[in-house]
Amino acid sequence: MDAKVLVNAAYFAVAVVFILGLKAMSSPLTARKGIVWAGYAMVAATLVTFLWPGHDGNGMHNIGLMVAAIAIGGAAAWWSGKKVAMTDMPQMVAIYNGMGGGAAAAIAALEFARGEAHEPLVTTLAVIGSLIGSVAFSGSCIAFAKLQGIMEKTYRLPAQNAVNVVLAVVAVALGAFIVAHPDHTGALLAFYGLALFLGVILTTPIGGADMPVVISLLNAFTGLAVGFEGFVLGNPALIVAGIVVGASGTLLTQLMAKAMNRPIANVIFTPITGAAAGGGEAVTGTMKETSALDAASMMRFGSKVIVIPGYGMAVAGAQHKVWEMAQLLEEAGVECVFAIHPVAGRMPGHMNVLLAEAGVPYDKILDLEEINADFPQADVALVIGANDVVNPVARTDKTSPIYGMPILDADRAQNCIVIKRGKGAGYSGIENALFYADNCRMLYGSAQQAIAEIIHHIKTMEEA
Ligand code: NDP
Repeated sequence: MDAKVLVNAAYFAVAVVFILGLKAMSSPLTARKGIVWAGYAMVAATLVTFLWPGHDGNGMHNIGLMVAAIAIGGAAAWWSGKKVAMTDMPQMVAIYNGMGGGAAAAIAALEFARGEAHEPLVTTLAVIGSLIGSVAFSGSCIAFAKLQGIMEKTYRLPAQNAVNVVLAVVAVALGAFIVAHPDHTGALLAFYGLALFLGVILTTPIGGADMPVVISLLNAFTGLAVGFEGFVLGNPALIVAGIVVGASGTLLTQLMAKAMNRPIANVIFTPITGAAAGGGEAVTGTMKETSALDAASMMRFGSKVIVIPGYGMAVAGAQHKVWEMAQLLEEAGVECVFAIHPVAGRMPGHMNVLLAEAGVPYDKILDLEEINADFPQADVALVIGANDVVNPVARTDKTSPIYGMPILDADRAQNCIVIKRGKGAGYSGIENALFYADNCRMLYGSAQQAIAEIIHHIKTMEEA
């Protein structure tokens, strides 16, 4: 069989596996399998590319360089993937995603440098892919720097939106010029420089809880850029993979924006400026403290407990202890379920992953829409290291930066117990009215230690 036909057939098979893998990732039961399938498909696509006959029909050149690049990139990804803490996953996703966008832009740059992109359609696609890929690359680098704590401030120019629009228009005009003059080195350099700068200037003002939405949006950009470069190279695997990433990234962006009640245009043009955004009306009243013993007996002698895990549970790594506590309560005849907010923690699905790792069955893990009506019937809502996702000001205070974000209705339970270390604010940096409510008690301490004490007291009650 002709090598080109063989390679294209293999790319087609790989594309089908990518789509099946992605489908499997939509359920926690099959997600692990989906990741593994997609990984094997990626390896197969990479290996089969070595059989590509090339433009001149003489096969691939620079094999040594390609193997070295794959070895270095693969080793770095393997090492960082093994080492990264679950709470650092968003910045990991950001930087990997940026590399994809950068690679797409670099492919187009290479085509220009070799004088391959001359047909107007090919040049147009290469220009569009370069613009989107460069923005995704530099934007993702800034997102990484922010989430990693390397860049702590949020910078916003006085007329930021106008500057963004002007820069985008100039970049598009330069792109149009390049379509007519693809060999103009000066225009190419200015175009790439401007596109990279655009990614930086679009991302620097964005901060706080908007960051995951931006990462997801940049991920969709990367997909699109890869898809366009697939057309430029005539590579079906790149086209399909790019379109799949672009479409799924767009859907995820929309879902996250909806979960936070932040229209995507607001995320980009009127961002919440950072973790210490503050704002909103002052919360009055006092926080009332409780003990692990009181918390344990309130739950042990109730009939329904809803556990709300948040970022603090992830930091403390308390998920195994939390599941042990839930099992003890169930054995004592108390119904115990987990309520998950879509943006709890620091990445989409963060809490689901941790609870699944601890062995919590999926039917005990309920989404916001499934569980919110049940809070009034719960004897206790146990909030473990969550803050923003249970803040009732999102319902009541129009001046609050999180106003309109759907929350888990912990304040509507008969009693609420909040485990956290002290008076620290959540990611949005604002006060939580729940902590001052009459039916709320604070159990101060790290989640690991507080849950261990509760377990100890429940066991003692069982023995008595
Ligand atoms: P928050 O960040 O609002 O609050 C976490 C709370 O955990 C803090 O108030 C902190 O209080 C407490 N905490 C920290 N360490 C511990 C510990 N060891 N033991 C016990 N408690 C601890 O978390 P939520 O999950 O409620 O909300 C997530 C926030 O992050 C939202 O604002 C969301 O928009 C944003 N976000 C979400 C992303 C996602 O994709 N899921 C990504 C990026 C941001 P104290 O210091 O007093 O202990």
